[in-house]
Amino acid sequence: MSSQLAERDLAVIWHPYSQHGLNQKILPVVSAKGAYLTLADGSKILDGISSWWVNIHGHSHPDIVEAISTQAAEMEHVIFSGFTHEPAVQLAEALVAHPAIRACGLTRVFYSDNGSTAVEVALKMAYQYPLNQGKPSRNRFLALHSSYHGDTLGAMAVGEPSGFHSQFRRLMPEVDFVEPGNLEAFRMALEQRGSDYAAFIFEPLIQGAGGMRIYESEFLQEAVRLCKERGVLTICDEVFTGFYRTGECFAFQHAGIQPDLLCLSKGITGGFLPLAVTLATSEIFSGFLSQDMRTAFLHGHSYTANPIACAAGLASWKILQLEECQLRIQVIAKHTKKNIERLQSRLQGSGVTRVRDARYLGTIGAVEIEDPMNYFSSKPRSLMDMALERGVLLRPLGNVLYAVPPYCCTGEEIDRIYQVMGEVLDRFLLR
Ligand code: PMP
Repeated sequence: MSSQLAERDLAVIWHPYSQHGLNQKILPVVSAKGAYLTLADGSKILDGISSWWVNIHGHSHPDIVEAISTQAAEMEHVIFSGFTHEPAVQLAEALVAHPAIRACGLTRVFYSDNGSTAVEVALKMAYQYPLNQGKPSRNRFLALHSSYHGDTLGAMAVGEPSGFHSQFRRLMPEVDFVEPGNLEAFRMALEQRGSDYAAFIFEPLIQGAGGMRIYESEFLQEAVRLCKERGVLTICDEVFTGFYRTGECFAFQHAGIQPDLLCLSKGITGGFLPLAVTLATSEIFSGFLSQDMRTAFLHGHSYTANPIACAAGLASWKILQLEECQLRIQVIAKHTKKNIERLQSRLQGSGVTRVRDARYLGTIGAVEIEDPMNYFSSKPRSLMDMALERGVLLRPLGNVLYAVPPYCCTGEEIDRIYQVMGEVLDRFLLR
């Protein structure tokens, strides 16, 4: 049956971020263990992108498997409005007890299902907060160019305006965009519209889907300071960067900032189940308290705080705290730095001028190619196919080839990922 899986799939499935008219290959995966996917033909693929950045420990980690099966046998799901359960409370307690989160005064955890909904929740909270206090409404958001915050309407609105969501712009709320690093423009936006902004939303230090673009922490520090001065809330989207992706548990720690709202998802369950949280300060939470249901945050999803997902989240959090895991993250960061630096000097040294930049942050490494290809070009797909032929899953973002490996990878596996990246680049650039 599995050999026909791709055909059966093409008859009934509509895939995400896929153009079915292009007859692109669909790869049937029959199992996934550690850093490897096994395809129906028996071949193994090293998952260099943690399957869309979610499987932080690699696939099928036994501790999470056990936590999930125990929880499923006990209680699979229960409505979360008016009811509660251990896994949800324990995971929330663990998160708010983290020193960096405590330092921000983020004491409340609102559960949802994915990164986009975590962002929607934050945007809606930021919008409703002044309304609840009888203050004039703030109905605009401030965001950064090249950002990506998700695919639902609010989340799309705060993403790069000229990107692949641009055709939906007329459906979206008003947002102003500033180039990351351009403090002058940021200051000006606040001067002109400071009292209109409900919040400033950002991906801290690195813009993932926008092309692994890294910007200065000084910019973020000053931007957040200016927002606080003007009563504009700050929303830190750590959907991609959270859970040690950048070396620190949360990327905002590098900048020493204290956001008012924090969005986490992706790695939260170790890639086992969809789950997200939006953390809010006590001050924001208090702004929704009254005797009137109308000031409550009237938002919720059927699977809010699903107990199995929360149990996976707790198990994943425990793995992250193990010394062994912390050491592996350090090894990955070390090998990422070494490989990106080597790639950069090799490409420069060989006289190939079509590499614009190579960069890294923690466990993330990226190479940007000087080529007009964008998200709509077929070239990224051909780069991906070249890497797959060499047994590594890499999925370029337009002209940016990057690796976001699972933390179970050894130093040798990280070297292998970047060796393949180098081979793919050579083949592409020297054509
Ligand atoms: N925010 C950021 C920073 C992201 O990288 C993503 C997903 N790539 C999202 C939000 C949306 O998450 P999801 O795909 O789970 O909706």
